[in-house]
Amino acid sequence: MRRAVIIGGGISGLSTAYYLAKAGVEPTLIEARAHLGGVIRTDTLEGCVIEAGPDSFLSAKPWAMDLIRELGLADEVIGSNDHLRVTYVVKHGKLVPLPDGLMMMVPTKVMPIVASGLLSWPTKLRMGLEFFRRPPAVRPKDRSVSEFIEDHYGREAVEYLAEPLLAGVYGGDPSRLSVSSVLPRFAELEYEYGSLTRGVLDQRRKLKRSEASAPLFRTLKRGLGHLIETLTGAIGSRMEVIQGHADAMEKTPAGFRIRVNGAWLEASHVVLACQAYAAAPLAGALDPELGRCLESIPYSSSMTLALGYRRQSFGQSLKGFGFLVPRKERRTMVACTWVGNKFAHRIPEEWVVLRCFVGGLEDSFLRESDKTIAAAVRAELSAIMGVTAAPELVRISRWPRSMAQYTVGHESRLKEIEQRAARIEGLSLAGNAYYGIGVPDCIRLGKQAAGRITSASES
Ligand SMILES: Cc1cc2nc3c(=O)[nH]c(=O)nc-3n(C[C@H](O)[C@H](O)[C@H](O)COP(=O)(O)OP(=O)(O)OC[C@H]3O[C@@H](n4cnc5c(N)ncnc54)[C@H](O)[C@@H]3O)c2cc1C
Repeated sequence: MRRAVIIGGGISGLSTAYYLAKAGVEPTLIEARAHLGGVIRTDTLEGCVIEAGPDSFLSAKPWAMDLIRELGLADEVIGSNDHLRVTYVVKHGKLVPLPDGLMMMVPTKVMPIVASGLLSWPTKLRMGLEFFRRPPAVRPKDRSVSEFIEDHYGREAVEYLAEPLLAGVYGGDPSRLSVSSVLPRFAELEYEYGSLTRGVLDQRRKLKRSEASAPLFRTLKRGLGHLIETLTGAIGSRMEVIQGHADAMEKTPAGFRIRVNGAWLEASHVVLACQAYAAAPLAGALDPELGRCLESIPYSSSMTLALGYRRQSFGQSLKGFGFLVPRKERRTMVACTWVGNKFAHRIPEEWVVLRCFVGGLEDSFLRESDKTIAAAVRAELSAIMGVTAAPELVRISRWPRSMAQYTVGHESRLKEIEQRAARIEGLSLAGNAYYGIGVPDCIRLGKQAAGRITSASES
């Protein structure tokens, strides 16, 4: 076995490194930033656990929990406080609760929809009638999420449910996002049942009781940064880390050579675990069309702002997880999480922390000063929530071009990327650009890349 080089030290690259080291292959990892973990970073200020990037992962996807168990962190796992789960949506400047029983944007309970102030009567009626929709005769082609949800539940369901829910995850635009890639389960349910509501209800009946009662999100008490520290510690000296920007890659008779900090590094296997646009020039030097395909995957930029207040000066009590701001009502903020309510153990009793997510941005906003950004967000918090107190803690984290956007046609782009990458022996791709934006899918892809390398070296 010769050298395996991983480019990118986010959770995708670190998972690859971990599973390689576990199988006896000691990788070299190249990371441009001064710290490992990519967009995963936890800061602890005044005892408040503040996530700069992701704050949790979906329980339904097993790969993050599998890794956490292997690392001996199972006792550190906490679930979202789902008994307190109310998420609000801003409508005409006011906070209106999302009706109970929604599975993303699919309604599964009648009375909460009937009673909801979020949707108009024509939308409620349409949601009810959707139950009787028949399956299509042929499998529908890929469409945008907007077209798909509008077709099932009407325009208002796009504007006040799908758009804010997805903007909070992707920082993206549902009129461009692909339903087959972003909501693959719903696309399948449509094909099988016709009605999404009937499909979701039927699937739910088949769930095991343990699955049905699992919290929607899980995370670590001390933050996801703890996962990165433990993962890095578990790999230990079995991984060589080079801090630098891999800026060129060439094919050699024995595999590859990669340039970093002006020196060339030989490798038999390379895993590009960086953003697709960063992988593009490297892979493009071996296959220009592969480079173009990778470059064509768009990314959105985002930012998180954590604002911390002493409870006695905050001036109100919060019931629920936070709120979403639909594009129609948006100025800057997409979502705001009331951190201490969503997760226990994160915020000491005497503090209140509001974590605001700003996404789908013009990159120029990212370059504004902390003062300007905090002032814009505080003005919105005042208008929406009536918060006028000055925060005592402010932590802003900027994430330029960090979230891949699975736009319409993503699946066919991936097919071409996969076919082309497979022709370059020893090359693998991992990261959030391909088969899932969330932490669990990134871990899954990292593990798969490691598996390909170890099985190639065994054969
Ligand atoms: C603000 C925010 C909130 C999120 N919230 C959630 C959430 O709550 N739950 C969830 O599941 N997911 C969430 N996500 C998504 C998830 O966190 C990411 O998709 C995932 O962490 C990406 O990991 P990655 O390793 O693929 O990429 P990154 O973390 O982006 O790491 C890629 C690394 O590659 C390095 N790199 C790039 N090019 C080179 C080069 N040429 N040479 C060397 N190094 C290079 C970069 O410096 C970077 O560190 C969120 C993302 C963001 C930005």
